Amino acid sequence: MGETEIKTCQNCKSEFTIEPEDFAFYEKIQVPTPTFCPDCRMQRRFAWRNERILHYSVCAKTDKKIITGFAPDSGLKVYDRDVWWSDAWDPMDWGADYDFSKPFFKQWRELFEQVPHPAVFNTQTVNCDYTQYTGNMKDAYLVSASWGGENLAYASRAQFCRDTFDAFAVYDSELCYEDVNVFKSSRTYFSQNCESCVDCIFLYDCRGCTNCIGCTGLRNKSYCIFNKPYSKEDYQKQISELKINTYTGICEARKRFEMLKRGQIRKYATLIKCERSTGDNMQNVADSKNCFDVLGDARNCRFIQNGTKIITDSYDGYGVGAGVDLLYEAFDSGVDGSRQLFCMTVYGCHNATYCFNCHGCNNIFGCIGLRNKEYCIFNKQYTKEEYETLIPKIIQHMNEMPYIDKNGRVYKYGEFFPAELCPFGYNETAAQDFMPITKEASQTMGFNWLEPKPPEHQPNFLAQNLPDAIDDSNIEITKENIGCLNCGKAFRIISKEYQFLKQFHLPLPRLCPECRHQARLKLRNPMKLWHRQCMCDKQHPHHTGRCPNEFETSYAPERPEIVYCESCYQKEVY
Ligand SMILES: [Zn+2]
Ligand SMILES: [Zn+2]
Ligand SMILES: [Zn+2]
Ligand SMILES: [Zn+2]
Repeated sequence: MGETEIKTCQNCKSEFTIEPEDFAFYEKIQVPTPTFCPDCRMQRRFAWRNERILHYSVCAKTDKKIITGFAPDSGLKVYDRDVWWSDAWDPMDWGADYDFSKPFFKQWRELFEQVPHPAVFNTQTVNCDYTQYTGNMKDAYLVSASWGGENLAYASRAQFCRDTFDAFAVYDSELCYEDVNVFKSSRTYFSQNCESCVDCIFLYDCRGCTNCIGCTGLRNKSYCIFNKPYSKEDYQKQISELKINTYTGICEARKRFEMLKRGQIRKYATLIKCERSTGDNMQNVADSKNCFDVLGDARNCRFIQNGTKIITDSYDGYGVGAGVDLLYEAFDSGVDGSRQLFCMTVYGCHNATYCFNCHGCNNIFGCIGLRNKEYCIFNKQYTKEEYETLIPKIIQHMNEMPYIDKNGRVYKYGEFFPAELCPFGYNETAAQDFMPITKEASQTMGFNWLEPKPPEHQPNFLAQNLPDAIDDSNIEITKENIGCLNCGKAFRIISKEYQFLKQFHLPLPRLCPECRHQARLKLRNPMKLWHRQCMCDKQHPHHTGRCPNEFETSYAPERPEIVYCESCYQKEVY
């Protein structure tokens, strides 16, 4: 194995390190070491993924009205999803010869404008028109990046959930509301980093709890309010005094909960059954570094965000997994595949490079919208021999005539797609959710920007005039255009949301779905790690004076939280 190398990022000019094991990985997939730092790579990749902004448009083949992630003036050919998946057209019709007089990325973008794209990237969904990047789903509304589920709304990364609303990263749960990073729970509301909780409100880092309100760091407890145990009878009495069924009661409880949380010790990261790994919000991960929200059976991975089992030997992926190895610089890819490099929505493919929305293909390069093909370049068919002769020539050409963007950044073989070729505004994509920037900054940095359309409806009902308790309202409220308390834009309460809230006596929301989503994101730490020392100076068997344990944590050093290592945390909280 080689030495550690310090490189300067082509984009932000900061230094980043390539470790000896990274060299081994790049060697294995035969790509040069990156020229963008991990954060800039993540930003560039995320800027290609619009998972939540939907537009009305028209199918380019049938004139049918469609709901799509591509803005009508994106200049792309967009088909209704079912038309796209039918045999009524052939993506090979746009096959092109490789042109050695133009940079690869320029040619790729030309093909990208010719080959039709599906309106949305949803598979096996029923009544899920307003969803994006969903699969195996029924009756969902404004749901994105989610797999398996029924009766959901306003959720992102909800995996195998039912009857759940307003969720971010919620898994195997039902009847949940306003949760962030919650697993295997039921009737749990306004909670974060919890597992196996039932009938709870405002929990943080709790496991196996039932009937608890406003608690942090509890394990297998019942009838606790603000971390204080009560008898069952007293608990019921307390609940009615808290008026948890009203908006004022919820606001008051949230205030007390936030205060309690502030004083509580925090664990440096949520890593469950993880070995020799760094990151946050992970389960069953081994020998992986800098990964976030990875659920299960990941080995030898780096810089993976939102991954699901199984992922091996993979770097730089967002929304990837389901059986993949040797994936690099990709999003929404994997699914029983291998060696997917610089891929976007590529499922079940082996040896796919610089491809977009291809499925069940082997040995494809620079292809768009192919299904069950092999040995294709720019959607043109070659023999195995022709393909194998041409690929090294293209790679050489990419290095000799690289694409150079407006800001002078150079894209040779081994770079992800330049963000300026992307059909989305930065503010339409996952990049804005996790690395928000202003319009001015996006222009300086060379990203596109989408001018927001004027709102379709004006509010006719002020959020502050909503009844304090939902029981004092009726279904008629779903007809109102309510003015969001935060941004002032009009939003509606949909009828299944209303029914859900009413069933559990939860107050009507005062914020629009977008402001609610942003508020949930704000509860999370950034997907970034800092090397820190445990802050514990209590009496614990493994240390006298300050605990010497060090770790990688997503709590930045300047943050106010008291951050402990695993052993100190367990002594104090469990
Ligand atoms: Zn950088
Ligand atoms: Zn709003
Ligand atoms: Zn410690
Ligand atoms: Zn300690």
